[in-house]
Amino acid sequence: MKKFTEQDIRPQQFVADQQVAALIDIGRLLSRRAEFVQVSCPACGHLKAAPKYTKNGFDYVTCLNCDTFYVNPRPPGAVLDWFYRDSVNYAYWNAHIFPASETARRERIFVPRVDRLLEICEKYGLETDALLEVGAGFGTFCTELQSRGIFKRVVGVEPTPGLAETCRGRGIEIIEAPVETIDSNVVGQFDVIASFEVIEHLFAPAEFVKSMLRLLKPGGLLMLTCPNGKGFDIDTLKTVSTSVDHEHLNYFNPESLASLLKQQSMDVLESFTPGRLDAELVRNKVLAGEFSLAGQPFLQQVLIDEWQTQGQTFQDYLVAQGMSSNLWVVARKAVQVGFAGFQKER
Ligand SMILES: [Zn+2]
Repeated sequence: MKKFTEQDIRPQQFVADQQVAALIDIGRLLSRRAEFVQVSCPACGHLKAAPKYTKNGFDYVTCLNCDTFYVNPRPPGAVLDWFYRDSVNYAYWNAHIFPASETARRERIFVPRVDRLLEICEKYGLETDALLEVGAGFGTFCTELQSRGIFKRVVGVEPTPGLAETCRGRGIEIIEAPVETIDSNVVGQFDVIASFEVIEHLFAPAEFVKSMLRLLKPGGLLMLTCPNGKGFDIDTLKTVSTSVDHEHLNYFNPESLASLLKQQSMDVLESFTPGRLDAELVRNKVLAGEFSLAGQPFLQQVLIDEWQTQGQTFQDYLVAQGMSSNLWVVARKAVQVGFAGFQKER
């Protein structure tokens, strides 16, 4: 596999303009700060949390029960809907960054993502009649999955009108509505529901999981990915991490995301952190002068002095230990225990 770098998926020539777009968005969101509301932990519901840090006018707190950290107070759903509908940052990504980086993103992110998802389906002996992707975006995942010819039906949920249009233009079946409002004709229809990098943006993650669960067949799989709040680059860089931004309200960790799914009576099959960029992201911040490793000789050695020989080994270690900042969780919807199930058990 070719070396995968930050430059591939976030081309440097767009960084300055994208930062301006993000700053405009932050201003828009903060203009409605009076409407932000206090919440309990988005993973476990615990009420007690300790202040963590503040970035760009948003306050982050850490749950004293499960270590999830989260933005609190936070914009409610109606404010988020308004915010994303006219996001200057998203418009910039759609117009410039996605088109310029799609080939690299497909190769480095989406092809491995589809490979991984199909491996998991095979491992757990899943039917492959229908898959739903919640948050289809540009449709790159759905297009790649369709090209494999494994699933008979691939459907995307994409509530943003411009993105939904792009997906339809690529021949993807799209439901243009938030997953929470999808009506009954697709309830219980899907063998697999996948949602990549969506749950961290939401006001109410538990409601989101409930809505997806309703659309799964009994025994069907839910696959979620999101940033790992205990991941190496997020934990090391703190407010300097680009993953810590105004769009990400929830920073689960492998245990807390699993517990959120268990609360919905799901059987959590596995979680893992296959990220490939943590070490490089920290290294790049150091090289850019935005982060100092003073007093951290081990990291200075691995990320800077001996990078060529130790960098990849260190990243592999982070992945193996569940310490990368890219988290996957796979869970199964319970099969109703009925008479037929009882007979089968016997
Ligand atoms: Zn918690």
